[in-house]
Amino acid sequence: MAARMKGPEALGDGLRGLVNPVTLMLVGLVVLVGVIPFVAALALYQMHDRAERDEAVADARRTATLLLRSFEQSIAPVDLLLLNIASTYDASASPVQVHTMLRSINLPPAVLQVTITDKAGMLIASSLPTDGMEQKDLSGREYMRAYLGREAVHAGLSIGKPVLGLLSKKWGIPLARPLVDAEGRFAGVAVASYAISDFIDFYKQLRTEDDMLIALVGRDGIVRARAARATSFGEDVSASRAFRQTIANGAVVYDEVSVFDGVARVGYAVASTKYPILVTVAHSLAAVEQRSKEFRAAIWSTAIGLSVALFIVALLAGRYLKLQKKLKANEVQALARQREANVLEAISRVPGVAVMHVTEAGASEVGTAADPTLSPLVRRYLASGRFRNLVRGLKEPQLRDEHLSDGTSELEVEMVVAPLQDIDRAASPGQGGDMVVFAVDRTQRRMEENKLYQMSKLASLGEVATGLAHEINQPLGVIRLAASNALTGLKVGLPPDHLAGKLDRIIQQTVRMSRIIDHMRIFGRKSEEQLQPSQPTQAVEGALQVVGAHFRLDEIEVNTMSEPHLPDVLCRQDQLEQVIINLLQNARDAINERRAALGEHFAGRIAVRVAGEARIGAPEQVLIEVADNGGGIPEEVVERIFQPFFTTKPPGKGTGLGLSVSFGIIRDHGGSLSVRNGSEGAIFSIRLPARLAAPALIGASAEIVQG
Ligand code: ADP
Repeated sequence: MAARMKGPEALGDGLRGLVNPVTLMLVGLVVLVGVIPFVAALALYQMHDRAERDEAVADARRTATLLLRSFEQSIAPVDLLLLNIASTYDASASPVQVHTMLRSINLPPAVLQVTITDKAGMLIASSLPTDGMEQKDLSGREYMRAYLGREAVHAGLSIGKPVLGLLSKKWGIPLARPLVDAEGRFAGVAVASYAISDFIDFYKQLRTEDDMLIALVGRDGIVRARAARATSFGEDVSASRAFRQTIANGAVVYDEVSVFDGVARVGYAVASTKYPILVTVAHSLAAVEQRSKEFRAAIWSTAIGLSVALFIVALLAGRYLKLQKKLKANEVQALARQREANVLEAISRVPGVAVMHVTEAGASEVGTAADPTLSPLVRRYLASGRFRNLVRGLKEPQLRDEHLSDGTSELEVEMVVAPLQDIDRAASPGQGGDMVVFAVDRTQRRMEENKLYQMSKLASLGEVATGLAHEINQPLGVIRLAASNALTGLKVGLPPDHLAGKLDRIIQQTVRMSRIIDHMRIFGRKSEEQLQPSQPTQAVEGALQVVGAHFRLDEIEVNTMSEPHLPDVLCRQDQLEQVIINLLQNARDAINERRAALGEHFAGRIAVRVAGEARIGAPEQVLIEVADNGGGIPEEVVERIFQPFFTTKPPGKGTGLGLSVSFGIIRDHGGSLSVRNGSEGAIFSIRLPARLAAPALIGASAEIVQG
C-alpha cells in the first residue's frame, strides 16, 4: 500500500509543497531583501552621479568666468594701447617716425610686437626691427580683411586667429584696431600680437585632468587657443551646438562629444560682453565618473553586504518559523493523538465492542480486550485477504455487517471501518492506509430480532390458521353434503350417474384442500436450509422449466432478459423458484381473465427481467421483475394482495396464499417483494441483496473467516 501511496499522491504533495504559502513568503522575502538594497544603491548612485556632474559644471563655470575676466583684463591694456596709437597716429608720418614712435611705447610683456600697416595692408613699421621687411604685404592677414575695402570702419577690437609673427617668429593672437587720417578715413591698421603661449601655458596649468578642455574661441568660431590633452589653435567649432548657443545666449552648459578628440565632456561656455571672444571649460565625463567610482564601489559593496545580511536574516527567520510551525504541529498532533486514543480506549471498554487499529503490519487492539470471543474473531477477520481487498483504497468510513465464525462460536458483527488521515498530511506524505475498526457484537440483537420475527411469524400463522379453518371448513361442508347426498341417492337407488357426480364433487374439493395445504407447507417450513450463492437467472430458468410448457399451451409468450455479469445472490433456490412460479401463474391468470373479456385473439405477454441495481451508501442488489399485460391490479385491492387468503379469483381457483407466502420467503432472504401497475399490467419486483453484501439474517451466511 505504501508503494501505491508514493505514486501520484506524492507528486501532488510535492506540487503543493512548491506553492506552499510559507515558501511563497520566503521567496518574496528573498526577492525583497535582494532588491531593496540594490534599488536604493542605484538611486543613490544616480543621485551622486548627477551631483558630481552638477559639481563639474559648476566648477567649469567658475573657471570659465575667471578665465574670461582674466582674458579681458589681459587684453584691456593692449586695447588701450591700440586706441592710444589710433588717436595719436599721424598718417603722414614716415615709417622711421612711426617705428620710433612704436619703440617708444612701453609694451606689456605678453605683447610680442605692435605693427602698423597702411590702408592697403602694406607694413609701415613695427615695434621690432623691420630690416628688409619694408613694403611687406600683410593684406592677406585675416585681421586685415576685417578692415580693408570697407567704407565704414569696424569700431571694435578685432581678435584674429593665431598667426606666426613674421618678425617675432612666435605665435600670437593679433589684436587690431583701425587707424584713420585727419579726415577720418581709413588709413591703416594697428596690430598688437599677443603671445598665444601665454594663454596656452596658463590654461595648461589650470587643467586638473588630462582630458579637461580649456578653449578660447572667437565669435567667428575659430579656436584662438585650446588646451586639452594636446594644445592647439585654429580649429573651426562654429558647427558645435555649445558654440552656437553661447553666441545666442551669452553662456551655456557644455555637454558634448568633441569632434576633434572624440572626448565626451561636461562644462561651461561663456562669451565676453566686451570682446568678440568666448571661453569654454569642460571636464571629461570619464573623469567625472571616475570621481564617483569610489563612491559607487562603496555603495555597491554596502548594498551587497546588506543584501547578504538580510538574506541570511530572512533565511534564519524562515527556518525559525518553520521549526516553530513544526513544533506546534507536532504538539497539536500529539495532543490530538492522545485525545483520539483516549476516546478509542473509552469506546473499547464498552461490552461487546472491540476497537482495532489496523496498519499494514496487522491489527492491534486499542485498550484492553473486554470481550474474549469478539476480539480474536475480529482480529482474524481483519488479517484476512478478503478484508484487505474490501478496504483497498478506502477513503470514507464504511459500515459492514459480517458473520464471523471460528468453528466453535459464531458472531454477527457490525463494523465501522474508518480510514485514518494524518493530521498533518503535508508533513508526512505517503503515510496512510491506517484504519481504525469499531466492531460491535450484534449477535444478541440479531437473536432477539429473530425471536421477534418468529413471534410475528407465529402471529401470522395464527391468522393463517383462522383463515385456514374457514377455507377448509367450506370444502369440508361441501364434501359432507355431497357424501350424505350420495349416501341418500345410494339408499333410494338413484342411478350411478348421481353417485359419480357427487364423488366428483368430493374429489374436486379434496384437490382444492390439498392445494391449500401445499401452500401451508411452504409457509410453515423452517428456514433451516442454508442459503447458497447462485446466479439469480438460475431460479428464473428453473421456474420456466416447470411452468413454461403450460404457458405455451395457453399461448402466452414469456420473454426473459438479463444483464450480463450479474452478482450472485444468497438464496434457497427452490424457494426463489416457487416465488417466481407464483408470480408467473398470477400473471397467466390475469392474462387469461383479460383474454376472456377481450376475446381469444388477445396476445398474452409476460416479460421477466433480471438486472443489477446500485444503491447509494449500500451494497448492490439484484432485481427480478415479472411484468404482464393482464391489465393490472385494481387500485382498491392493490394494498391487500399480500394478505393471506386475499384473492379475487373465483372460489376453487385461488387460495389467496401465493403472494403472502412469496412475500415471507423474499423477506427471509433479506430482500423485498413489491408491486406496481405498469401501462399494460402488473409489475412485480423481487429485490435481493447481492452476494458481496452482508447477509441480513443470522444463519443466512455460510462465510467462514479464513485465518
Ligand atoms: P391467488 O392467486 O390464489 O388469488 P395470490 O396471493 O397469489 O392468491 O394473489 C392475490 C390476488 O392478487 C389475486 O387474487 C389477484 O387479484 C391479485 N393478483 C396477483 N397477481 C396479479 C397479476 N399479475 N395481475 C392482476 N392481479 C394479480
